[in-house]
Amino acid sequence: MTLRTTLRPVLAVTCGLVLAGAAGACGSAGSSGDRLSIVASFYPLAEAAQRVGGDAVSVTDLTPPGVEPHDLELTPSQLGAIADADVVLYLGGGFQPAVEDAVSSASGRAVDVSADLRTLPVPAEESEPTLTADPHVWLDPVLYRRIVQEVDRTLSEVAPAQAASFHANADTFGRQLEDLDAAYRTGLEHCARDEIVTSHAAFGYLAARYGLTQVPIAGLTPDEEPAPQRLADLKALVERDGITTIFTEELLSPDVADTIARETGTTTHVLSPIESLTPDELSSGADYDSVMRRNLTELRRALGCS
Ligand SMILES: [Zn+2]
Repeated sequence: MTLRTTLRPVLAVTCGLVLAGAAGACGSAGSSGDRLSIVASFYPLAEAAQRVGGDAVSVTDLTPPGVEPHDLELTPSQLGAIADADVVLYLGGGFQPAVEDAVSSASGRAVDVSADLRTLPVPAEESEPTLTADPHVWLDPVLYRRIVQEVDRTLSEVAPAQAASFHANADTFGRQLEDLDAAYRTGLEHCARDEIVTSHAAFGYLAARYGLTQVPIAGLTPDEEPAPQRLADLKALVERDGITTIFTEELLSPDVADTIARETGTTTHVLSPIESLTPDELSSGADYDSVMRRNLTELRRALGCS
């Protein structure tokens, strides 16, 4: 990496910090021009970085659109991006072990955005051995707002000259998330049912926040195949409790959900865990807020909320 002669303040500050902290190159100035280079390990962190950083940042999402982020494998160029970035944002607890391994090589700041959150434990029956916590914190708007605040703190420390702008952007996004939280509280207050059958156990934090009970087909990791006894128990529960909807995800096969729905006379609908947006969603301008609001509409319909 070579320092350019036309540095703008944000890069000058960043490079100053990097050079003061350790020997080595100046961030990833070569790839991101004069903007702060941020690598985010999956979509919700990329959106938080983009919303807080605005024009002052260049964000790379390690998880491509439409790809499921659990156990993401990294290409050599992605390892290089992690090593060179000014800031790496990731989620700890064994969600993406390859990313957690790679951040030790980061020359910039690497932040586990869930480090200060109270996470939910991994159920005893979970089959994914790398998980030490339920990773799906971002599906609770209250916790996601705290992640946004953590991103604001991090960017403001790395590029203090831009801190006022980062704070303002984070406040704007934070108010949007408060509105979203209020919409969930109101929207899910008076419902005929409180159980949601989901494809994988992504909605534990959301369920805990809004008084729902999650009944997942698979565990915390989506590729887990449910055992025959689990399927039989699920079907019995769906029939016993009058559940109307089996929730699927865009990025997972709906086969098991379709089977349960067919055999119980219920229907399937998509409930997005926002682990990655699909290319269609991205091109139509969807974002965390719009998908969460679509999810709320789906939940209200499924649960018979008035
Ligand atoms: Zn998940």
